[in-house]
Amino acid sequence: MKTALCCLLSCTAALMSQSLPVRGLHLRAPLTGEIPLTEKFIREVLPKEGVNVLVMAFGYRYQYSKHPEVVDKDPLSRDDIKRLVAACREANVKLIPQINMLGHQSWGKETSPLLRAHPEFDETPGAYPGNQGIYCRSYCPLHPQVHPFVFDLIDELAEVCESDAFHVGMDEVFLLGEEQCPRCRGRNKAELFAGEVRTLRDHLAASNRTMWMWGDRFLDAATTGCGKWEAAENGTAPALAAVPKDIVVCDWHYEAAHPTAPYFALQGFRVVSSPWRKAGVALRQVDTIRLARMNSSPAVASRMLGVLHTTWCGVGAFVRAYYGEKEEDQRALESAMAFKALSAELRKQP
Ligand SMILES: [Zn+2]
Repeated sequence: MKTALCCLLSCTAALMSQSLPVRGLHLRAPLTGEIPLTEKFIREVLPKEGVNVLVMAFGYRYQYSKHPEVVDKDPLSRDDIKRLVAACREANVKLIPQINMLGHQSWGKETSPLLRAHPEFDETPGAYPGNQGIYCRSYCPLHPQVHPFVFDLIDELAEVCESDAFHVGMDEVFLLGEEQCPRCRGRNKAELFAGEVRTLRDHLAASNRTMWMWGDRFLDAATTGCGKWEAAENGTAPALAAVPKDIVVCDWHYEAAHPTAPYFALQGFRVVSSPWRKAGVALRQVDTIRLARMNSSPAVASRMLGVLHTTWCGVGAFVRAYYGEKEEDQRALESAMAFKALSAELRKQP
């Protein structure tokens, strides 16, 4: 008993003496004209602020060679991305590319290039003209051709980014198992969601890549009180029990530091907390992680990896806000301030 207690305390002490393993930043992909600015930011700012992971949401803004019909406006070239890869390597930052899978296949009136080019993949084909009355479109997870297609995009982007991890998004999926889909209607939504997670994870695992994803669909809105954005009202939460535990959950909460990171860690998942523009929430999330790591077994403590700060504005706006230059975007200003406060806190030991 005494030996076990000593072992636990020494292991916990060893964990607590280290800084959190993941100190991440999430950015949208830069415009093509912002590549030099982004390179400079990666080289100069990220090491100074202690950032060691950069998740970059490229989406369809890359010159995909296999499926040029889904290439979005102002796409980055292979050379553009290689410049970012080189900057990350110099700065000792792990670059993780992202494409939103399943949900977020439209934004406002704009439908994603995937569903514009391939409307047959739409979960609700022909419904909601102009995207009126919905938040975002989804692709159909049971369409027989959708996975070979998105796997090509994932593989191409992961390869150019030289990444051993890939972020598949999967947040805020509201359209799932819909009446308009002949394959999905009437199916259990948790099973549909879990099936999609497993399919994407298995594909990435085959090339030794770790899957990262947002965690909101794994939380039940009614039970947690987190609301229908940061948690699910559409019955997907039980999917957590039916997906592989080697995915990394990005547990985003922007208004309050819900103690869900320990929940994911106790369920066997590695997890990072994701704040946005409220410095107080970001700091309370760090408090929660540190306290939970201090009071958990070493196995559970080691799963609470750290943080992934989000920005939700253009890279240019965020960088200008960071440097204190003239910037009108209030959200960029707030996110940059929260990022600085968070980074300063993370640089403290432990
Ligand atoms: Zn479907």
